[in-house]
Amino acid sequence: MSKVSVTKDAGPPESAPSGLVVLDNVNKHFGALHVLQDIDLTIARGEVVVVIGPSGSGKSTLCRTINRLEPIDSGYIAIDGKPLPAEGRELAELRADVGMVFQAFNLFAHKTVLENVTLGQLKVRKTEKQEAIANARKLLDRVGVANQADKYPAQLSGGQQQRVAIARALAMDPKVMLFDEPTSALDPEMINEVLEVMQQLARDGMTMVVVTHEMGFARSAANRVVFMADGRIAEEATPDQFFSNPRSDRAKDFLSKIL
Ligand code: ADP
Ligand code: MG
Repeated sequence: MSKVSVTKDAGPPESAPSGLVVLDNVNKHFGALHVLQDIDLTIARGEVVVVIGPSGSGKSTLCRTINRLEPIDSGYIAIDGKPLPAEGRELAELRADVGMVFQAFNLFAHKTVLENVTLGQLKVRKTEKQEAIANARKLLDRVGVANQADKYPAQLSGGQQQRVAIARALAMDPKVMLFDEPTSALDPEMINEVLEVMQQLARDGMTMVVVTHEMGFARSAANRVVFMADGRIAEEATPDQFFSNPRSDRAKDFLSKIL
């Protein structure tokens, strides 16, 4: 009787595509707005997918469905072969597998940098405290802010805060990292220090979905560009193909405005 996951989501498709992240025929509405329309997207382990498209095309919503910050109306989403759980402990664990970095840094303001990076490990992963601290220090070093460990977020620059946010997500040992316009709120001189951390992460083999307007990053780091327009994936291509020879009119129009 007490079925935990009350959900309208469909089960896995007949021939489920294999991939670390699989979205199959995903649809979502906000009231009358059909914000995600028949989204099929399969992301392989180690792949870096850059999502671009006009404002309002559904990029953020797409990201948020992947860790179920937004439930979907229909379709199927799985991470590493496991369908997204609807709630409870399983959902918390899944969210830990899917690291997310937002435009606004979203650090805990009343915790130190080190505490920001240890908290999830202690609470969700149940990592032993000394180990969590050692992990955190290693990650803070990796993103270049080791000497800021005892400061509070407000004492850091935007670029430093965003690098701490990346370290915090990595501390959960995620299977995939989602970045939603991670450099859009940064002063121009801080954009590169964040992109460089992301480039290194890509080179280290992390599976990444990155919503960004940084076309230089897309060209150099992406295995694939996904172009969204009006809630649909309008075009998918390698960065080379996409930037030199976009096929859809929507993509041509978009590129003519930003390049
Ligand atoms: P993008 O990230 O590509 O700019 P979003 O996914 O943020 O696009 O938004 C897609 C559309 O959905 C927009 O029209 C936006 O106004 C709308 N939208 C986003 N979030 C909500 C929400 N929580 N409630 C209602 N409408 C929303
Ligand atoms: Mg957005």
